[in-house]
Amino acid sequence: MTQTVAEAPTDVLDRLKAVVGPSGYLDDPEEMAPYCIGWRDRWNGRAALVLRPASTAEVAEIVRICAEHRVAIVPQGGNTGLTGAGQPHEHGEEVIVSMGRMKRIREVDPLNDTLTVEAGVVLAEAQRAADGIDRLFPLSLAAEGSCQIGGNLGTNAGGTQVLRYGNTRSLVLGLEVVLPDGRVWNGLRGLRKDSTGYDMKQLFIGSEGTLGIITAAVLRLFPKPTDAQTAMAAVPDPEASVRLLAHLRKELGEAVTAFELMGRICLDHAFAYLEGHEDPFDAPHDWYVLTEVTGQGAPGTLHDPLAEALAAAFEDGLVRDAVVAASGDQAHKLWSIREEQADAQKPAGASIKHDVSVPVSRVAAFLAKADAALEAAYPGIRPVSFGHVGDGNMHYNPLRPEDWDDAVFAAEREKVNRIVHDIAVDLGGSISAEHGIGRLRLDEAEIYKPAEELDMMRAIKRALDPHNIMNPGKMIRV
Ligand SMILES: Cc1cc2nc3c(=O)[nH]c(=O)nc-3n(C[C@H](O)[C@H](O)[C@H](O)COP(=O)(O)OP(=O)(O)OC[C@H]3O[C@@H](n4cnc5c(N)ncnc54)[C@H](O)[C@@H]3O)c2cc1C
Repeated sequence: MTQTVAEAPTDVLDRLKAVVGPSGYLDDPEEMAPYCIGWRDRWNGRAALVLRPASTAEVAEIVRICAEHRVAIVPQGGNTGLTGAGQPHEHGEEVIVSMGRMKRIREVDPLNDTLTVEAGVVLAEAQRAADGIDRLFPLSLAAEGSCQIGGNLGTNAGGTQVLRYGNTRSLVLGLEVVLPDGRVWNGLRGLRKDSTGYDMKQLFIGSEGTLGIITAAVLRLFPKPTDAQTAMAAVPDPEASVRLLAHLRKELGEAVTAFELMGRICLDHAFAYLEGHEDPFDAPHDWYVLTEVTGQGAPGTLHDPLAEALAAAFEDGLVRDAVVAASGDQAHKLWSIREEQADAQKPAGASIKHDVSVPVSRVAAFLAKADAALEAAYPGIRPVSFGHVGDGNMHYNPLRPEDWDDAVFAAEREKVNRIVHDIAVDLGGSISAEHGIGRLRLDEAEIYKPAEELDMMRAIKRALDPHNIMNPGKMIRV
């Protein structure tokens, strides 16, 4: 299989420019630079051209020309991905297809509870469109003001409400995709039941742009909750947090929408380095849970049931202290401690970031084993753990020991990754629960994924993209 694609000759680039017209491309290196660099400044590539198509027909024509001349394509949404999947390589021969101009809401169907949107619609815009018809599109993440539906689909994004609504895979009923030969697959079906063979849309969701360019999607909508209650609970340890989750689900059922765990160090960072945060408790505790329950009752309906469930958990020793937010403003303040963790952690020094998942019942074992193994290898290392414990997904970002230099610690990345990922996988887990493989975890995917699974992935990639023009060198090597 052709592994590396060709450098695009000038006449091919000219044909591509003609497809989108003068307002649809960038070829000045300075103007292309923001499209070539990733959110964490880590992946800084070069592109031959940035194309900004305005329709599915334009995307299809671009892909046809690229396929004919074996020019590699990097599909790009809001460029908020964290694994280098959305940026070009350093050789400068790829073209970026940036989807931001395809931002039409094509159809709103309140009775089918669906929204059909183009791939360049920003996530927050999709949420607003759902809100406009009194529905909820529940995908929610800190980058929602910039990331696009196409990127959310490309990465199978998660976020804070996966516990109740599932991740992107569960929120999509149909897709329209430009295939690597330029044909358009119209799979924009708004069906909840369809037993007619392979579920092709699921192949494209989470494929990181390696199988085609998604141009539109049918999204699932839900009743908009009319009541939401937020609480922060101090818990003795992660095991208690998992038991508290089971207890809350028993008492409150599906109303438990979010359930996040944070170590004390997360709160310390927020108080030390960010403005406007204060400790909601009188005394410090080792671990905290932030939970949200939502429902369809009158505002405030769930306040007392949540407080009572937490009080019962206190009696059982699962909770040491708890606050139930008395207002939307207080709820927002509690949530901001969690949502601003990426910024809160930065000033504390270099950290090595992980996005692992394990079965929920093994979260505590994962944290205990990983903390112990890292402390043995790097005495004084400071584990920072926060995340979506309700989905078994932890952002596990150990910080350098206080007396280490940032660069010296960063050089240990591979060894630290190996320790953490060995433990996660031994516990039946995954090395990436949300952010994906991209370039960041490409080598590790080959270590940790079963050979049979890698073979199936390669077979699918070869079948759909025989010339390897779709985002080569990302997610899977062929
Ligand atoms: C502050 C912050 C918080 C975040 N929080 C979360 C979180 O809670 N949960 C989570 O899952 N992620 C999170 N992320 C990661 C990121 O926001 C998500 O992965 C998001 O889904 C990426 O969307 P994007 O539009 O920016 O995609 P991009 O970064 O542009 O692209 C991501 C991948 O999708 C592919 N792609 C983009 N558009 C298309 C398309 N139309 N067709 C085919 N492939 C396409 C790209 O090639 C690339 O492989 C966070 C990132 C930041 C910066």
